[in-house]
Amino acid sequence: MHQRQLFLNYLAQTSDFPLALEIEKAEGVWLYSPDGKAYMDLIAGIGVSNVGHRHPNVVNAIKNQVDHYLHTLVYGEYVQAPQVQLAEALVQTLGNYRTPMGFALNNVYLTNSGAEAVEGAMKLAKRFTGRTELISCINAYHGSTQGALSLAGADFFKQPFRPLLPDIRHIHHGFITDLEYITTRTAAVVIEVISAESGIRVPSREYLQALRNRCTATGTLLIFDEIQTGFGRTGSFWAFEQFGIVPDVLLSAKGMGGGMPIGAFIAPQELMKVFKNNPILGHITTFGGHPVSAAASLATVQTILEEKLCESVQAKAELFRELLVHPAIREVRGHGLFMSVEFANFTQLKAIIDHGIENGVITDWFLFCDNSMRIAPPLTITEAEIRQACEVILNAVKAVVD
Ligand code: PLP
Repeated sequence: MHQRQLFLNYLAQTSDFPLALEIEKAEGVWLYSPDGKAYMDLIAGIGVSNVGHRHPNVVNAIKNQVDHYLHTLVYGEYVQAPQVQLAEALVQTLGNYRTPMGFALNNVYLTNSGAEAVEGAMKLAKRFTGRTELISCINAYHGSTQGALSLAGADFFKQPFRPLLPDIRHIHHGFITDLEYITTRTAAVVIEVISAESGIRVPSREYLQALRNRCTATGTLLIFDEIQTGFGRTGSFWAFEQFGIVPDVLLSAKGMGGGMPIGAFIAPQELMKVFKNNPILGHITTFGGHPVSAAASLATVQTILEEKLCESVQAKAELFRELLVHPAIREVRGHGLFMSVEFANFTQLKAIIDHGIENGVITDWFLFCDNSMRIAPPLTITEAEIRQACEVILNAVKAVVD
């Protein structure tokens, strides 16, 4: 049977209209189908391939680790070099930042995925503060497991799965007036620095500082979900670094693995130690921080730093903005290579995206914003590739709109 038919027959489907592109090989910003057609991946596998597909450093790190060991024992028992070196490297990216409690972000819990990092952080906040209420944002997405889903800011995805977690409250991202809902009852606010799935909404510096202050004043932990914005995406290793505030807990995944599955929640040791008692083994995982994924992630951190990938992000983003001009483009939003291009409506956007894919450029829309095109390419994309991508997008716009 053809691969495509096997895909449709045997793999659980999550919609009736999967993209269903068949991929045989990937390299840099390019995906290749078996018939030799090349597609430029302008969404980096949804925020994952920040260092490009199959970066040689990542591939070598994986090969090297495979030659040593795979799984050895559940998370947190054996000393495994890839895990501890990754944890050290992540803590080093957080340098001298101190939380308002005066703590360094110096302790890393490695997970399988973003959702698991969210789950672990939610438990950490409840356990550390002794409170139950959690606050997240309207039109936010933090994962599909039931705890993370409870944080999602749209009923459409939640209603059929209720009851979900109780005591969750939602505020509008970027609205200072909503911060009053954060009180001494609130264990944590789980929030993205830049709201991704609402179509890339960048809040003001003033908002983020007011949020930090309100959390500090009420003894609420501020948990930044940097699962999409971390690992250089916005032009600094972590997005929060550009806003003059420090979270109490930081979440990572997606781009963190350089194409391998891994996530993390990072917090001061003073917070993280709650998992050691009452109960002992407060959060455990079999495969969290798998050594091959951890080796790939360490190579990813090193590559971003050694190749100074953050430094060119701004110029590349500006080139996109310079080129993506057409009367049908209502707005280009974003921060660094975390961008969205707004069109009139979904019908128009979908036709443009389909035309682009047909002509070798993959883009997408957002979970909670279906009139805007997602552009978040590998940070390694070249100027020539940006020009080529924008030409294909503009041709698609002209074909659909003009
Ligand atoms: N948080 C954010 C901001 C995300 O975009 C996602 C995934 O899209 C998640 C959490 C969940 O990550 P994962 O899909 O690895 O569980």
